[in-house]
Amino acid sequence: MNDLCCNCFLENFDIGRPLGKGKFGNVYLARERQSKFILALKVLFKKQLEKAGVEHQLRREVEIQSHLRHPNILRLYGYFHDASRVYLILEFAPKGELYSELQRNGHFPESQSATYIMELADALIYCHTKNVIHRDIKPENLLLGANGELKIADFGWSVHTPSSRRSTLCGTLDYLPPEMIEGKTHDEKVDLWSLGVLCFEFLVGKPPFEAKTHEETYRRISRSNISAGAKDLVARLLKHNPMHRLPIQGVISHPWVVPPCIHFAPASALFQLQMMPLGNK
Ligand code: ATP
Ligand code: MG
Repeated sequence: MNDLCCNCFLENFDIGRPLGKGKFGNVYLARERQSKFILALKVLFKKQLEKAGVEHQLRREVEIQSHLRHPNILRLYGYFHDASRVYLILEFAPKGELYSELQRNGHFPESQSATYIMELADALIYCHTKNVIHRDIKPENLLLGANGELKIADFGWSVHTPSSRRSTLCGTLDYLPPEMIEGKTHDEKVDLWSLGVLCFEFLVGKPPFEAKTHEETYRRISRSNISAGAKDLVARLLKHNPMHRLPIQGVISHPWVVPPCIHFAPASALFQLQMMPLGNK
């Protein structure tokens, strides 16, 4: 990854409409002048990053996200900076935030939710094989590509495993697995917990953890108006003990995610096909 420190590098881009506001700056639609390539430019103010003491976190985010290549993970093409700002060059997600889509619709139909869970699980398998855990999977951090495909964004809380460090609390409590709330060491199984929370939220419109106790949470899941297959998947993921959670491979073969009559190829399989060099005949 190139560290481009150049005041004039910004001149390579035409800046378009704002796409959103982040904690430390804004995101704009942009076009690289020469290639006309459309992308998103995230502009972060150094002063604000310093004040919040998150430079280290940003460096880790850039380091991790720039090395990931998966159709359901937002690409980070590179970065540059000037005296006062850091610019992240990101893949543009034309359909915006999944969170807004959920707000608009209230909740998603079962088949759409299952597709999102398949895409998420596929991307997480890829991350976990690279020893990356995301740790902050929630609707606000999921964007949608041109064809409505899910893209994991925001690797601000991600780390390389094994994470023997005790966790510092991050993210919204709603999605945090018990081992992180309790400040224990944790591994990639934290993302399985978030997957269970998300699955419930897709189907019902809100996460299951407004309840005080685990018993109450399970009652909520079993009383909810979702199919038996979805209940089964959610209950298998929301196990307090990480060792008891359904492994991620079990998610992509779960009958609710992949109904037995449908032969679904995850986007990554097609992606690999596209990336395969064509041999000379
Ligand atoms: P926060 O932590 O408060 O979510 P942030 O600093 O992480 O803020 P982002 O979430 O990355 O900022 O960006 C803010 C908003 O800009 C997003 O919620 C989304 O609506 C929009 N946005 C960001 N990146 C893209 C992108 N690549 N394509 C389209 N829209 C984007
Ligand atoms: Mg964000």
